Amino acid sequence: MQLLDGKAISSQIKSEIKAEVEQWTAAGGKKPHLAAILVGSDGASETYVASKIRSCEEIGFTSTLLKFEPDITEAALLEAVESLNNDPDVDGFIVQLPLPKHISENTIMEAVNPAKDVDGFHPVNVGKMCKGLPAYISATPFGILEMLIRAGIETSGKHCVVIGRSQIVGLPMSILMQRNEYPGNCTVTITHSKTQNLKEICQTADILIVALGRPEFVTADYVKEGAVVIDVGISRVADSTKKSGFAIKGDVNFNDVAPKTSYITPVPGGVGLMTICGLLTNTFKAAKKEIYQ
Ligand code: NAP
Repeated sequence: MQLLDGKAISSQIKSEIKAEVEQWTAAGGKKPHLAAILVGSDGASETYVASKIRSCEEIGFTSTLLKFEPDITEAALLEAVESLNNDPDVDGFIVQLPLPKHISENTIMEAVNPAKDVDGFHPVNVGKMCKGLPAYISATPFGILEMLIRAGIETSGKHCVVIGRSQIVGLPMSILMQRNEYPGNCTVTITHSKTQNLKEICQTADILIVALGRPEFVTADYVKEGAVVIDVGISRVADSTKKSGFAIKGDVNFNDVAPKTSYITPVPGGVGLMTICGLLTNTFKAAKKEIYQ
């Protein structure tokens, strides 16, 4: 079993981007600028945004955080989105999800200029990704692809089973793993809560990508000997032995599953850290106008 170490790979990617940014700015390019909109004070969202901002500082990006009260109206949030769309210094921005119930996430996502949609959630970017056209690939799928690339994992002709069909993880992952390039060329099965015989399907996976949001759901009996297991899940589980009162758990029971695998991602220290790299890479592409002029 080999560990797909998100900490090591993400720190390698960050130093590569940092070096490229130095070259880019030395050659007269503008410092990449990522902005983030955060609504309310959800603990997990605040942690994610803080770590995105910290990463920007580490690698030489400019960053801006716009914080709003949870009772902000949809109209006022749309105005904030519009101001970032029109700010020539901001190359890309994200709206941290989830948003309060009274605000439509789809309406907000669709208001973001696709050229600045570095989370890759806008239908234009999703559509382009589906058609294999240049687009911002959303951060988590991007991070997973990068882990497969960096570990040199063969994907062509393999059976990839994805658990979960969410817009941000399962669905894009299933599309990316079947495309005609590397990583890809898999035969993909996408599963969800209505899937019958989930365990039997998973047992046939060469590559199992797990994103359902249920801590330690996947046990050894779901996994074929030698499979590659990518655990996307991040759940807070009460744990009185921790100072914080909770432990972070993935969707895979790591200790049970790891001995059967050829490669596996840990949680924490796996896909979560890679996600930030996807965002930073997209922001740098936006600054260089690589995808949209
Ligand atoms: P989501 O939107 O809640 O989607 C969960 C998916 O899992 C749905 O498609 C659901 O099926 C399916 N599902 C639920 N129970 C199932 C079951 N018993 N058997 C089979 N499928 C089942 O979740 P998400 O946003 O994709 O996130 C999934 C997990 O990944 C969460 O723990 C989240 O925190 C984590 N996450 C991590 C990162 C990262 O950077 N590492 C990024 C995003 C999310 P239906 O469609 O039928 O409801």
